[in-house]
Formats: sequence, C-alpha cells, structure tokens
Amino acid sequence: MEGKRETIILFPFMAQGHITPFLALSFRIAEKGSYNIILVNTPLNIKKLRSSLPPKYSSIRLLEIPFDGTQHGLPPDAETADILPYYVGLRLLELSPSLEPAFRALLSDVIREQGGLRPLCVVADFFFGWTAAVAREFGIFHAIFSGAGAFGLACFYSMWLSLPHRDSGEVEFTLPDFPEAGIFHVSQLSPSLAVADGADRFSVFQRKNLPTWADSNGLLLNTIAELENNGLVYFRRKLNVPVWAIGPILLSEDDRARIRAGKEFGISPEECTKWLDKKPESSVLYISFGSQSTISATQMMQLAKALDSTDRNFIWVIRPPLGFDPAADFSPEEWLPEGFIERVKVNETGLIVLNWAPQVEILAHSSIAAFLSHCGWNSVLESLCNGVALIGWPMAAEQFFNAKLLGEEVGVCVEVARGTNFEVRWSDIVEKIEMVMGENEKGKEIRRKAMEVKEIIRNAGRDEEGYKGSSVIAMEEFLKAAEMMKERAEIGRL
Ligand code: UDP
Repeated sequence: MEGKRETIILFPFMAQGHITPFLALSFRIAEKGSYNIILVNTPLNIKKLRSSLPPKYSSIRLLEIPFDGTQHGLPPDAETADILPYYVGLRLLELSPSLEPAFRALLSDVIREQGGLRPLCVVADFFFGWTAAVAREFGIFHAIFSGAGAFGLACFYSMWLSLPHRDSGEVEFTLPDFPEAGIFHVSQLSPSLAVADGADRFSVFQRKNLPTWADSNGLLLNTIAELENNGLVYFRRKLNVPVWAIGPILLSEDDRARIRAGKEFGISPEECTKWLDKKPESSVLYISFGSQSTISATQMMQLAKALDSTDRNFIWVIRPPLGFDPAADFSPEEWLPEGFIERVKVNETGLIVLNWAPQVEILAHSSIAAFLSHCGWNSVLESLCNGVALIGWPMAAEQFFNAKLLGEEVGVCVEVARGTNFEVRWSDIVEKIEMVMGENEKGKEIRRKAMEVKEIIRNAGRDEEGYKGSSVIAMEEFLKAAEMMKERAEIGRL
C-alpha cells in the first residue's frame, strides 16, 4: 500500500441535490490527503463543476460519462433533474441504467490508465444501484451513498417496495418490514408515493433500483449513529451489508460560497449578521423551505398573519408561492397582508429575504432560537449542528419521515403543517411557534434536547489524539473494508 495513492470513484445522480452531498463527501475524503478522487457525471454537469471546484482540491478529477439526452427524446441541455420540468427528471432516472456500458468503459479506461491497477472503490448514488453489478465484474468494492438520513431513507425504501398504504384503505398504516418506524398517516406521503400503484413509472423504476442495493458491499449514510438507530438497523437487516453512519457530510462555509449552484443571495451575509447582532440571544425564528420548495399563496398569508401576531423576531426566505414562476422577479407584497413588510421593517421585528439566504451563517448566529423548516436533511443537519430546534413543515420526498423522526424519536421538532394542500391556520402556527420558542416546559425541553444533539454531532466528528468519534470511525471502517477486499482480490490473482 505504501507510497501508492488509491483511487476512489464517486458517481452521483444528475441533480444538484445529489451532486452537492457527493461533493461534500469527496472533499471529506480529499482532506485525508491519501486518495485520488474521480467524480463522474454527464458532460454539462462536469462543465459546471469545473468552474466551481475549489482549486485546493487538486486530488479531485472530474470525469465525463458520455450522455446524449437528444437520443432519448430529451432537450439538448437536459442533464440536471432539478432545473428541468418534472417529466425530464423522471426520464433521467429511467434512462440512468442506459449509462451502464459507458460506465463499464469508464472503469476499464481508468484501470488501463493506472497501468492495470483497479480503483479502491466505487461510491454511487442511491438511484444507481445498477453500478454495484458493474463494479463487481471488475472486482471493485462498491458502496451506495445517500445524503439523506437513515430513518428517512429506510421509510422511503420500505414504502416504495411494499406500498403498504395502497390496499389498506385506511388513512393510517405501518410498514410490514419496518414496524419499529411506528404509525404513518397518508398525509405523510410525497405526491408520487401517494398515487403509486406499483405499475406507475416511479414504482417501476424503484422496484428495479432498490433491490439492487443488496448487490453493493455497503451503505454510507449522512447521519450520526447516536442520533438515530432504527434506520441503520433496518438497512443492516434488510440488505445484510455493513451500514456506515459517516455524517454530518456538509460543505464547509468556504466551499458553499463557491458551489452555490448559481444562487444569488437575496441579502449579503454581512447585512444579515448585522441585523442578527442587534437581536437578543435566542430570539429569532428562521423560516426557509430549502432550495426548491415553496408554500401556497393561502399558506403564505396565514404564515404572515401568524408572524404579525406573535411579535417574535424572524428572518423569512420568501419565494413566489406555488403555481408562480420561481425564477421570475416578484414583489412579495402581492402575497402578504397589507402593510406587512413596512410594519416588520419599522418595528425591526422581521427581515424578509428574497429567494436565497446565507442559511449556514444564519443558523450559526446566537440570536437564532428556532428554524421553521421543510425538514430537508441538509437543513436538519445544519440546524442541529448549531443546536437550533425545529418547527417542521415537510413538503416532499422523505422530509415527512425526517419530521417524524425529529418529533417522535429525537425530540427536537414540532410539526406545524404538511405539504402545500394543508389548511394551516395562523393561530396554529402561532401556537407551535410559542411552543418551541416560549418559556414553557415543552419548549425548554426541545431546546435543551437540540443543544444536546449539537454536542452529539460534534463528538461524532471529533478526531483527536485519544478520541475518535463514531462518524470518524465509520469512515475509517468503510475505507478499511474496501482495502481488505482489494488486498484479498490481489492475493487471489497471484
Ligand atoms: N439553502 C441556503 N439558502 C436558502 C435555502 C437553502 O443556503 O435560502 C441551502 C441550505 O443551507 C441547505 C440546502 O440549501 O444546505 C437545502 O438542502 P435541503 O436538504 O435542506 O433541502 P432541499 O433543497 O434538498 O429540499
């Protein structure tokens, strides 16, 4: 092993929400200083990455896998699932196994370039289960990585394979192979899961993809072993492969500034900090629905009314409501109560940020008390890394399950609404805000728990003389497992 740098190949699905966690993972591995990393993606995505990759990560090589969407009836620029219409994203998913011959050729090329030496491992997206069989052909160790949490992903996995809500006819249901996850309500299903019948396009894709995870040599999850156990146990039982909790895998502030996926801040971090500096400690509610989601116009009005009546300080990242062009210029007044913006400005209680805020800087500020969030896993981790309690308003995907975990198991979140059809009332929002931010027993307990989780996360990432946290150990164990397989394979060849 001495003197020779091993190569690790990372292959995310073509969507910003998948590429970003893979970048964060590749930076984490690159920081170890002993690996060459190859990040694979389709040509347009690689081109974008090339211009944003921080130069300090010179050990990361970006490699194109040929893909021509026009041959499959897609528009010529259709390589990213998140900025294109929904049907293109689904089509990209369906088409992804067609990358198999190109991926096989790419592995052969890398091995040839390395004078016959095989890469140490392939780490692929959870949508790319098919890559496990290809890696196996070459005798290369394979792991699946997801930026999601273990419980959220386990619920997603179980539901897509069994669709337990379909035949029961009840509004509540449990998961046959994951009973310890508890009771679910149909309102916790994402729109695609809610209508899935096993023959729809998503079900067809998932029923092919999910079982192939068992062909992999292990699962890498962006979570912390001490934070959640059920999801980890589920996958060990279901797939019978090692599961490594290596989280939190998040971009550092410096790296985020470079890789912001073209998003311009609606306010500068400095202005934001200046505003927060004037607020008392733990007095501000931060409100954001992630990088893509938005609420309906009616819900927006109810949320604004709630904020009007609480007098709590807040920062609210506002986008055009559902049904309006998210990329268009807009005036938020249109969707807010009359005089709202002026009032919160004069009273200095609220800061309205259009489209995109410096979220990590905000959450790290001592004036922040709580985060009203859609419970996207990155937002959850960023909040908990700073000991900030959550008010959950899940919108899509596994966010509903994240909110369930955080509310029922971890005890750091209170749910206020679900999705864009939910008839949320301003008085309920006020009640939940007061519950989490106010001086009541429940609020105190949630905030205490959030601070405890902050410590748990910090400890999991500690790598000091005499102490290694669980996530550090899990990362080492994953790399060791890959090395052992390679050594065994090489001995076998001698
Ligand atoms: N984010 C941000 N500013 C915003 C909204 C989102 O910096 O105004 C970042 C946030 O810090 C997080 C990511 O975008 O890292 C959102 O990821 P998450 O998993 O929470 O939700 P998704 O966008 O995938 O729904």
